Amino acid sequence: MADKSFVIAVAGNPNSGKTSLFNRLTGSNLKVGNWPGVTVEKKEGEICRADISFTFVDIPGTYGLSARSEDERIAMDFLTKARPDAVIVVLDSANFNRNFYLFTLIMEMGLKVIPVLNMTDMAEKRGITLHTDRLAAIFGIPFVKTIASRGKGISALWKVLEGVGELRKPVHLPVYPEPVETAVQVLMERFPKEASSRFRALGVLDGGIVIPGNDELRKTVARFQGEIEEELQGEPDELIAEKRYEFVYSVAKECVERRMSTEQKVALTDRIDRFVTNRYLGGPLFLFAMWLLFFLVFTVGNPFADWINRGFGVLSSFVPGSGLFASFIREGLIAGVGAVLVFVPNIFILFFLIAIMEDSGYLSRAAFVADRFMHALGLHGKSFIPMLLGFGCNIPAVMAVRTLENEKDRVLTALAIPYMSCSARLPVYLLFVGIFFTRYQSTVVFSLYLLGIFIAVLVARTLRRIFFTKAVSPLVMELPAYHVPSVKTAAHSAGIRTLFFIRKAGTFIFGSVMVIWVLASLPLGVPYASAQSIIGRIGSAVAPVFHPAGFDSWQAAVALIFGFLAKEVVVGTFGVLYGGQAALSSAIGAHFSALSAMSFMVMTLIYIPCVATIAVIRREIGTKWAALSVGISVTLGYGLAVVVFQVGKALGMG
Ligand code: GDP
Ligand code: MG
Repeated sequence: MADKSFVIAVAGNPNSGKTSLFNRLTGSNLKVGNWPGVTVEKKEGEICRADISFTFVDIPGTYGLSARSEDERIAMDFLTKARPDAVIVVLDSANFNRNFYLFTLIMEMGLKVIPVLNMTDMAEKRGITLHTDRLAAIFGIPFVKTIASRGKGISALWKVLEGVGELRKPVHLPVYPEPVETAVQVLMERFPKEASSRFRALGVLDGGIVIPGNDELRKTVARFQGEIEEELQGEPDELIAEKRYEFVYSVAKECVERRMSTEQKVALTDRIDRFVTNRYLGGPLFLFAMWLLFFLVFTVGNPFADWINRGFGVLSSFVPGSGLFASFIREGLIAGVGAVLVFVPNIFILFFLIAIMEDSGYLSRAAFVADRFMHALGLHGKSFIPMLLGFGCNIPAVMAVRTLENEKDRVLTALAIPYMSCSARLPVYLLFVGIFFTRYQSTVVFSLYLLGIFIAVLVARTLRRIFFTKAVSPLVMELPAYHVPSVKTAAHSAGIRTLFFIRKAGTFIFGSVMVIWVLASLPLGVPYASAQSIIGRIGSAVAPVFHPAGFDSWQAAVALIFGFLAKEVVVGTFGVLYGGQAALSSAIGAHFSALSAMSFMVMTLIYIPCVATIAVIRREIGTKWAALSVGISVTLGYGLAVVVFQVGKALGMG
């Protein structure tokens, strides 16, 4: 025999899953009859659990609760007059607002409520998440999530039901404007306290409840309605409904999170892709994206780079004396490594934006757009991804050719990658455009990147003609749905890559720069970094070779020679040889012209990326190809630098 017994009503909107839930709770212990006086079916189920007897009553599904329709009246009368011990309110989570409106009405009845957020599977599919913890905190009662059709969440509901004796009533309810509340306080006296007096008072005010044959009450209500109308300039029923909707919205705002669902995302992705991968728009859009990338690299990065530059300048002015050690710190450490580190902000932004493009799904589109273009060049569209990676660093890009299925694509792509302008080359451009092309910085750098792509493609195409002849298979690739890129993830990956850059500056580049400093200081007795130093003599011996390209200072020759190690070293070398930040700009301004700066940048872009990349190429596709890569890049780099300078001079630009 049960110790206690409770009557639990099951209420909710039509199709919220009431019957499904009811059946899950009661099993087959069902009693079907009619509601008194009408032919509307009444279902009851009795079940014993944890020594408690529960009688569940399935009340008609409704959207509101008033005497205006039979179903609503049955539901309202049962709730307000029969007063069940608690009401399970089944809410369709996918239509939270509409369902919560009914829930609000039931809360106003002053009953114990057990809100059940059903159809959570449907809600999830539509990208709707309900925060039960927040709902519970606002109302001071537990909210249960269920999927009634699959029986999910039913045991959690039972837990709440078993504690229904101790369950509190909801603590948060709509509050109405002053004249309404005053009327409600007075009218509540007319109804028995334990019989939903507040709900009924509101009901007679908004006309949802028919006033029993009581003329005196009718007059009182009419008087209040008149006062409310006059004071608030609106019909009481509208005012009350409006407040209730406001209440629902405010709860939804706190507790309902709407993301785009997968289906919506796919639809949106398709719509965006119609433009982004469009045959005619795709290419220009990609170029615009690249241009924007460099524009941001400059406009956002340069102010920070300036600060760092000034910081190094100040630092170097603190180094006292003119001895060997002071020179080592000033000309070697600060000038050499500092010259490279100055560009850390720009590098970070470049990596950050590439990560954003990758994360948003745009980079795959770029590969897709490029596919047609790549085919025209005899390369597989897939090759574009490693090539794009090359903008960051050629080394991982060459490693990525492993993802290509056939030998030919691997070889051609690995040979094309070194012309993709990696981040190590950026400091060189930044140094020169900052001096010679101040007004067109991003455009000049952008064109250098384009030139790199052009050369990459040209090399691949030519080599294919010579070494391979088979046709390429078309690109079949899955384009991921777009999504809002995570700034945190992008910042994280950019941070890691930037740290790698800084570490390289602190170790490898530092080492190279030190060697140059030593060679610039020897033999003992010669002025530092003069043409008589060892490095000066080496540079001077090589310099005439570069005369046709417009830059024949021995320092430029040294920079290019040591640039074999890493392209950052080019900048570091200038830093060491021209002695510090302040002197650097004026020295370069004196040794170069805008035209020779251009040819120097072209040379830097094209000749050998760095020893490490060559080593990786050798490992991935063999010594023969690696040697060919060195040969081609040096020849092309030198050749193009000469062409740029000679053509420019012929056009009267030098
Ligand atoms: P009622 O009108 O409130 O009694 O709702 P029913 O219980 O008859 O359910 C309406 C429809 O929704 C039925 O086809 C159920 O199988 C389905 N349904 C009920 N609960 C869920 C749920 O949580 N998820 C899903 N996807 N469907 C449900
Ligand atoms: Mg039903």
